[in-house]
Amino acid sequence: MPSTVTDNPQVIGRFAPSPTGPLHLGSLVAALGSYLMAKRGGGLWYLRMEDLDLPRVVPGIADDMLATLEMLGFEWDGEVVYQSHRTRYYQEAAEHLVRSRLAYACGCTRSEIAQIASAPHEEGLVYPGVCRDGLAPEKVERALRVKVYDEVVSYMDGIMGRYSQHLTASCGDFVIHRADGPYAYHLAVVVDDAASGINQVVRGADLISSTPRQIYLQRVFRYPTPDYFHLPLVTDPNGAKLSKRDNAVSLAAGRDLAREGGALLLSALRFLGQLPPSALAGAPSAEVLFWGVANFNPDAVPRASAPFPD
Ligand code: GLU
Repeated sequence: MPSTVTDNPQVIGRFAPSPTGPLHLGSLVAALGSYLMAKRGGGLWYLRMEDLDLPRVVPGIADDMLATLEMLGFEWDGEVVYQSHRTRYYQEAAEHLVRSRLAYACGCTRSEIAQIASAPHEEGLVYPGVCRDGLAPEKVERALRVKVYDEVVSYMDGIMGRYSQHLTASCGDFVIHRADGPYAYHLAVVVDDAASGINQVVRGADLISSTPRQIYLQRVFRYPTPDYFHLPLVTDPNGAKLSKRDNAVSLAAGRDLAREGGALLLSALRFLGQLPPSALAGAPSAEVLFWGVANFNPDAVPRASAPFPD
């Protein structure tokens, strides 16, 4: 039987950097992995700037990121989405949860939570649900939290295998909005992925522990859950994750990307377990990307973090 569109829906993937620092080798791996995973089956690849936490956004970085991606030969589909322009959608989503009694106002301070919370989990403090049944009269609203129930959220990651989390034990009712700050990353990501029809999320493994909370929100909103692929992280030679704040050097620093972009992409392909032919040495970026689209094999992507190959 010929396959139909419904049997084989078009992949819609995305790259969603936060413009709080320039693109580094870790972001290059996420950009390349998400691009090739979308394009290998003729899918779409969208770009979203996660510039919601405005005080942390560095002016000019979003444009630098776009210029760097362009110089490396990446072509995205449609218009770039900026989270800073989408607050009203996050607000609507949060209000919907409050109306449905799935979210509530919390007046606890961090130190109050620290005093009563059980031992902190790797996700931070586990919220013990103090304000779940109403804000005590002496408290002011500090945050909106979504209620989680005693269930294990489990999904099959395309690279890391089965991943499960007991939300009550690992984070408890979690924050979707702070009274003095932006809407939370988990809420924005889930609302935006659904609005763009994203059905494939490829990103760094540092976000794998966020995925159960995001799947939980998708279920609450009755949004479909995309397929998830978490890529190994790039570490520095001491084994620490590259982060914008500490040890990550901008991709463009000290490099002529127009000339060296192809070599950089070849190294990123090798980091992702791919075996590009030696004939591609010295090839321009566009040619390396073309090879990647035709040959990318997700089964070859390693799970372990590693330094970036020279
Ligand atoms: N903005 C996040 C970051 O730069 C990525 C979010 C996502 O891919 O879901 O780490």
